[in-house]
Amino acid sequence: MQQGFDVVIIGAGPAGSSAAILLARAGWSVALVEKQRFPRRKVCGECVAASNLPLLDALGIGRAFADAAGAPLRRMALMHAGEQVVADLPAAMDAAHPWGRALGREVLDSLLLDQARRSGAVIFQPWLVQAIEGGPGDWQLQLRKAETSESCSLEARVAIAAHGSWEALPSERDEARAMRRPSDLLAFKANFRHARLDQGLLPVLALEGGYGGMVVGDDGITTLACCIRRDRLDAARRERPGLAAGEVVERWLRRQCLGVDAALSSAQREGAWLASGPLRPGVRLAASDRLLRIGNAAGEAHPIVGEGMSMALQSAWLLCARLLAAGSATEAASADRHARIAAGYAADWRHHFRQRLFIAASFAQAASRPASARLLMTIAQRLPALLTVGARWSSKDRSAIDAASIRRMTPTAAWHDRPTTTPS
Ligand SMILES: Cc1cc2nc3c(=O)[nH]c(=O)nc-3n(C[C@H](O)[C@H](O)[C@H](O)COP(=O)(O)OP(=O)(O)OC[C@H]3O[C@@H](n4cnc5c(N)ncnc54)[C@H](O)[C@@H]3O)c2cc1C
Repeated sequence: MQQGFDVVIIGAGPAGSSAAILLARAGWSVALVEKQRFPRRKVCGECVAASNLPLLDALGIGRAFADAAGAPLRRMALMHAGEQVVADLPAAMDAAHPWGRALGREVLDSLLLDQARRSGAVIFQPWLVQAIEGGPGDWQLQLRKAETSESCSLEARVAIAAHGSWEALPSERDEARAMRRPSDLLAFKANFRHARLDQGLLPVLALEGGYGGMVVGDDGITTLACCIRRDRLDAARRERPGLAAGEVVERWLRRQCLGVDAALSSAQREGAWLASGPLRPGVRLAASDRLLRIGNAAGEAHPIVGEGMSMALQSAWLLCARLLAAGSATEAASADRHARIAAGYAADWRHHFRQRLFIAASFAQAASRPASARLLMTIAQRLPALLTVGARWSSKDRSAIDAASIRRMTPTAAWHDRPTTTPS
């Protein structure tokens, strides 16, 4: 089986599915390849910042998101050891969507993927992209169906990598097999029912050797996600031989932070702890990219600021704006034009996301070291409003995509999908 498309998108996380919807709606023939079956759980704090909600409206899933997601997140807390400081989150600029909300990735990613299918994208799932050859105008991709030996090849004028950060593409595996380092951050997540946590509160956890967050999302389920240094995890595991890594992390979190212990005191875990990593925050895209990158495949901020999905969604919009401005896939894939698209998009990406990477890295460093975490706590206790300012610096209140761009890129968007009221 061999098939040709204007564009092949690798990975159906928030970045890949958003790009598939935008390009398919504009009349491009789109193949979206996802190796996992949905719905699937994923290591993520699951908070969608308010700045993304206008994008979800324009993609046509705003109402479904509003119906399913947890309460509006109006306040954040910094928790460290036995202390906590609560502060307001900054309201986003779009008056219809001032507050972010949390939604399980099994729901959010399925909503986006279903919308990509309805928009006309051809979905290859569960298919794994195994190899990519060629270049703009003439890409060839080898696919293998998960759990089988069935294979097929696709051809495309444009190829977009949206495969996240954990699973390297075959061509990048050597780089990904970098040496294990004690300072590697490993990510964990679990969901709990009956946790004692205020809806609408977003606690950030400063931990010795890591950081984390908690939130109540859809159906009253609490998500607890964290990152822990490899050496801290190894030490904690040596204290509890025979215990699974997730169980060790849960005990570590409860011992490190009384706020977590209190929240989980009567909670029941739903499903297993999930783990992934190591985390490699930083910029991966380059102005000379032939394979265009969006979402975590393009770059990644420490998740302490919960802006990864914002960068995934918004980078997809930034790239698609440049591709659609070319007029057609054939034009976008022509050598000169493709080079200009890649360079322009890389400049847009850095302009909008560089500050988020810097703030997230600084906050992560400060939160995960005992002395600086104590200092952070002391400062926050005296001036809680600084937490609000920090959230603003990490772009919680604004999007890389303004209202005019949304209307330009989705002229026939289902604006009626926009929820009519937002709880105030
Ligand atoms: C501990 C932690 C907490 C976080 N908390 C938050 C938060 O609260 N809010 C927030 O906004 N962000 C958060 N993030 C970040 C967020 O999860 C990511 O930034 C986001 O998932 C990136 O989206 P993406 O579409 O780029 O990639 P992904 O969501 O990773 O999707 C990539 C997809 O590609 C598929 N894929 C991979 N390789 C292939 C292949 N070869 N062939 C086919 N398919 C492939 C994968 O199966 C996957 O479905 C957190 C991250 C961590 C680690």
